[in-house]
Amino acid sequence: MNSPSPTNLCDLGIEGLRTFMIGIGESRFRSTQLIKWIHQFGVVDFSAMTNLSKAFREQLTNNTEIRFPEIVGRQDSADGTIKWLLRVDSGNSIETVFIPGNDRGTLCVSSQVGCPLDCQFCATATQGFNRNLNVGEIIGQVWMAARELGQTPKTNRRITNIVMMGMGEPLLNFNNVVNAMQLMMDDNAYNLARKRVTLSTAGHVPGIHKLRDVCPVSLAISLHAPNNELRDVLVPINRKHPLEELLDACKQYASANPHDQITFEYVMLKGMNDGESLARDVAKRLRGIPAKINLIPFNPFPGAKYECSTRETIDRFRDQLTRAGIVTITRKTRGDDIDAACGQLVGKVISKSARRRAKTSAVEVLR
Ligand code: SAH
Repeated sequence: MNSPSPTNLCDLGIEGLRTFMIGIGESRFRSTQLIKWIHQFGVVDFSAMTNLSKAFREQLTNNTEIRFPEIVGRQDSADGTIKWLLRVDSGNSIETVFIPGNDRGTLCVSSQVGCPLDCQFCATATQGFNRNLNVGEIIGQVWMAARELGQTPKTNRRITNIVMMGMGEPLLNFNNVVNAMQLMMDDNAYNLARKRVTLSTAGHVPGIHKLRDVCPVSLAISLHAPNNELRDVLVPINRKHPLEELLDACKQYASANPHDQITFEYVMLKGMNDGESLARDVAKRLRGIPAKINLIPFNPFPGAKYECSTRETIDRFRDQLTRAGIVTITRKTRGDDIDAACGQLVGKVISKSARRRAKTSAVEVLR
């Protein structure tokens, strides 16, 4: 008979690890010690955890494991951006991106293998969806990057900000994402301030309400259009949760965290959503919400049906918003030479949804 597979301690989250320790007759404090070893010191070998008793270390070695996704590729961009490909199971891999800046280092973390939302301008969407990442696979991206970047408690902090803006819709993997974000903010792990952890959503309204109540990190919304007609096309989840509902959830989120601003992302698609009158509509729509706007020049990918707006159009769009009193910046495109820019992450996804969609055409080809 096969022995049951060992519990991967990284999948448990902070609360789960405490409960696990109590369940095996240990004190809650053991979980703090383990979190420190794993996340602050990067140690995954129980035998090296010298402040734990030998008997306890043996018990852990026999019944549990610490396992993170394995790095299977790394690409370095000319601008310093790094993209890692991580294998999460035999068929699937995900991507994680580090973007260094003058006074900050931002890690862009994935939450799902592929993505079930069908945003028309996003490369991840073309991959279809396979599964949610578990807690260890999400926090493992931070663990891996910290090690790769040589971050230790004694060196300068390399990762100063984390954005849940990689592959996937984080609010559709709510519990695992929240458990991982709690580790990002925990003093015994990565110790990031709440405002330095940002979750970006395409607009899953029930998830926004839940996040406000349980883990109010910085919120970013992929807006991309100021009216339902256009947003229904570009960001199809809008058909389920239209703008009125979404912006109302944003208002509630903001009033629960009065000193925070919500970031609205707006991808610039030539001739689609980049007209000056639409900029004025965006400003009107966001009235009453403490908002700032990030304009994202569209990053092309093979098979994309859109083009990026011209520099002049983007500047005009920005000026309209600024004139309306909204702080608006155009996001610098980073890492596009290694396909690491926004919306270019594809990993390797054995897609259940795309496979279903492709079935008919595959049959045609086989004939
Ligand atoms: N699913 C979440 C997390 C993805 S964040 C969300 O939708 O918010 C990545 C950001 O990049 C989102 O705002 C997304 O809409 C945007 N994006 C996707 N594809 C893009 C592309 N090809 N060019 C520029 N931005 C893109």
